[in-house]
Amino acid sequence: MHKILELKHIEKKYSSSDSLVLKDVSLKCFESQISALTGPSGSGKSTLLHIAGLLDNSSSGEVWIDGKNASQFSDNVKTHIRLTSIGFVYQYHHLLQEFTALENVMLPQLIANRSKKAAKNRAESLLFKFGIGEKINMFPSELSGGQKQRVAIARALANNPILLLADEPTGNLDPETAQKVFDDLLRIVNEFKMSCIIATHNYDLASSVHRHYAITEGKLLQQ
Ligand code: ADP
Ligand code: MG
Repeated sequence: MHKILELKHIEKKYSSSDSLVLKDVSLKCFESQISALTGPSGSGKSTLLHIAGLLDNSSSGEVWIDGKNASQFSDNVKTHIRLTSIGFVYQYHHLLQEFTALENVMLPQLIANRSKKAAKNRAESLLFKFGIGEKINMFPSELSGGQKQRVAIARALANNPILLLADEPTGNLDPETAQKVFDDLLRIVNEFKMSCIIATHNYDLASSVHRHYAITEGKLLQQ
């Protein structure tokens, strides 16, 4: 199976503190696979996702993406990979309030130089896939929490990434909506043959995916 992400012996120390936030973290993520990451608040989940997504550098160790050692890339190349190969979803949707759902999903594509027509077609098709096809011209303030999070996921997928990193994506939703959004996420990851890591506090969700990693004080263990 195709390996999308590999973390090799990652350690992370923030300059403001002496202690290690991540300790010798290694993991592999393959296409069409979802890995869940659980752990108490402050255990290092977001730090791990930021490093895997090339938003932050590790203090030591290597991040391999699609068979290449991304730790060695220049900032420009990292920015390009983030735009074209990695999607991020956060607990709060971070949609741009002054743009419609459709425009929010078009924007990353326009930044990646896709034509307006192609961007619109893809945005529409993603929003339809997430069951919010009739809401595409609405603004975030006119959407429910679950709908906003679906738009945020569609936006993360806009440039057809190979890796989706979701940091407590359903953490702000009621359990029933969380389950539905999570099911949609699983379906799409399989359909697009992506690899995905989801940080979550929901152990039921975590135990239902391909791999469940738990992190405690920066140490990662596969469950
Ligand atoms: P989680 O997402 O599991 O709640 P985080 O990765 O956000 O955990 O944080 C792990 C640890 O790193 C915490 O002790 C937190 O205070 C610390 N930390 C996170 N970001 C920074 C930062 N930018 N500078 C210094 N310390 C940080
Ligand atoms: Mg976090």
